[in-house]
Amino acid sequence: MRVCVVGSGGREHALASVLGRTATVVVTPGNPGIPGSTSTPPEELEADLWVIGPEVPLVDGLADRLRSGGRLVFGPGADGARLEGSKAWMKSILSDARVPTARHGVFSDVPAAAAFLRSLAPPYVVKTDGLAAGKGVVVTDSLDDAIADVAAKLSGAAFGAAGRRVVIEEGLVGAEVSLLCLCDGRRAVPLAPAQDHKRLGDGDTGPNTGGMGAFSPVPGVGKDLIEEVVERAVEPTLNALHLRGVDYRGVLYAGLMLTADGFKVLEYNVRFGDPEAQVVLPRLDCDLAQLLAEAAAGRLVSEPSFTDDAAVTVVLAAEGYPMSPRTGDAIQGLDAAAAMPGVEVFCAGVGPGITTAGGRVLSVTGTGPTLAAARSRAYAAAAAISWPGMQHRTDIAAAVGGPDHSAHVTPRGGQGADQSADRPAPGDQTARFSPGGGGGADHSTNGDGQ
Ligand code: ATP
Repeated sequence: MRVCVVGSGGREHALASVLGRTATVVVTPGNPGIPGSTSTPPEELEADLWVIGPEVPLVDGLADRLRSGGRLVFGPGADGARLEGSKAWMKSILSDARVPTARHGVFSDVPAAAAFLRSLAPPYVVKTDGLAAGKGVVVTDSLDDAIADVAAKLSGAAFGAAGRRVVIEEGLVGAEVSLLCLCDGRRAVPLAPAQDHKRLGDGDTGPNTGGMGAFSPVPGVGKDLIEEVVERAVEPTLNALHLRGVDYRGVLYAGLMLTADGFKVLEYNVRFGDPEAQVVLPRLDCDLAQLLAEAAAGRLVSEPSFTDDAAVTVVLAAEGYPMSPRTGDAIQGLDAAAAMPGVEVFCAGVGPGITTAGGRVLSVTGTGPTLAAARSRAYAAAAAISWPGMQHRTDIAAAVGGPDHSAHVTPRGGQGADQSADRPAPGDQTARFSPGGGGGADHSTNGDGQ
């Protein structure tokens, strides 16, 4: 099978690498660090299957254009991609489908929004309706800041058209986990859960980013919880979409918060997460090309299966990321790092001559029999790579794969959770959930520069 992957980041490199185990892969536009990259647009390439990575082309209808030319495409059309393109629409689908989610209101004028905010308890959550590359969400304990943020968004000054409508939500408290499902329009099958680390700095400090690292599996998130999320959230959502005439074929990525009242869906994304893809996909021990082709054809009959290995990825970012990443520096040590056992280096913001060309530059994934082993491999490989100003977090997966595995971590606003497990087998129900990726956000920023 020949597969065309659309996109240019670490997620697309991970897709290309895992698809490449069983298929011939071409990546457009890719980048100089991803083998098989080409500048030929997807419409002009010959392939048996097109896999669209990022949300922007999905929201813009690339899958529809390719399908209208008779191509087999993994990725929702513009109708389904509205789940990510409009948070207000996503909330209306969640409400149709009775999916557990934060109470919310949708507003386009400041006084009504402020009145709703006053009816809520902190933390206050204000989101742009439209796409804002991860920058559009503010979570704050200050009512004044929340109202000021609403005003800035609705004026169009902060996010242009994407902010002309805002979604205000009750603030939830709990650990976050990502569950990505493959969908064929009617059926959804879950992949292994992952947790990402969105904040720039160690200890979940600093601005929000596109993601500074991730790990999979997630201790405490076992088969029962996954089944519950599929039955109570993902399948009802697919049904609600179907009732609205949407034939959703692609990834449905549920961003979950595990609250004291059970899980709540914070958001849906319509594509593989980045960097979640860099830890979930390498753990697959089945034919990904076959799975995605089946989903794209509306006949998903195969089941994904995973190795017992754990995976940890550490994002290496350019100086100045996420605000104004510095680019153009030569990257040293990439080949040596990639040659280490149990290591894969995925190229994101990489330019000609293997130089830095974006905010998140590389994603270094280690795999191993435990999260601790995977983590050591990822960090050993990261230590072999350098360029001026390179930055990365030093605590990715530390709460679940640190040297003593016994740290106590306090979920945002919640009680401490025991970190008793290092590597539960997939489906293990005994380990307790260990938060680490979430963190109280204040003003969120992103800006991969990619
Ligand atoms: P991204 O693009 O990074 O996935 P996004 O811009 O689509 O994010 P959300 O995922 O909805 O926005 O929210 C971003 C983050 O804000 C969440 O990961 C979570 O940490 C926090 N957040 C969102 N909604 C809530 C809520 N209702 N209560 C508490 N925190 C929240």
